[in-house]
Amino acid sequence: MTTPFDTAPGKAALDARPVPKTEDVEVWLFDLDNTLYPPSSRLFDQVDRRIKAFVQDFLSLDLEAAHRLQKEYFLEFGTTMRGLMTNHGMEPEGYLDYVHDIDLSPIAPAPALDATLDRLPGRKLIFTNASTPYAERVLDRLGLRRHFEAIFDIAAADFEGKPYPSAYDKLIAQHGIAPESSVFIDDIARNLEPAAALGITTVWVSHDDHRARHGAEGDHVHHVTEDLSAFLAATLEA
Ligand SMILES: [Mg+2]
Repeated sequence: MTTPFDTAPGKAALDARPVPKTEDVEVWLFDLDNTLYPPSSRLFDQVDRRIKAFVQDFLSLDLEAAHRLQKEYFLEFGTTMRGLMTNHGMEPEGYLDYVHDIDLSPIAPAPALDATLDRLPGRKLIFTNASTPYAERVLDRLGLRRHFEAIFDIAAADFEGKPYPSAYDKLIAQHGIAPESSVFIDDIARNLEPAAALGITTVWVSHDDHRARHGAEGDHVHHVTEDLSAFLAATLEA
């Protein structure tokens, strides 16, 4: 199946609307997993497997049923965690510790992105459905932590994260963000929808995972890139 986004990196982005002028962007909001590091590292596969194992154990399901439920909850609740909380009264803390207890060696320091973020003016925050301790570990491993003034994590969103509109409202209120002068970058296309509805400029870091592509055809996707560092470098040249 082809989509409007099956184009060269950055091409569709430039077609969709002008690349934001960096001097007009006050705040850059970055997703963490599969956005600040490439999906090709397969790092998130480990989290994915641990989510499945958790669901299996927590609900005494076989692997197949756990996988089905994980997919179902992702579509219905945005995250498996939220589905387990809503339908099964699960407490989120133990879940988050368990699913994030992974080996970070598949990802490496990101000097190109580090240098680009150095040149990029404006405030920078992390907006993630993960926990802060995990986000800090990943940012340390990538060598990027110093660029971000804050991490707005799943606890800050009262465990109702992206794509619930309330998460975006809380982020904006807590950090004094003006949507119309902000950019949000995420690899899960449908997470961009509530941001676009608020007037935030959106960038989809495209990849092939079916969950990431879900909803990618919508006009809430303003820009598309396969290479975040290259996209940011292009905005610096624009
Ligand atoms: Mg992500």
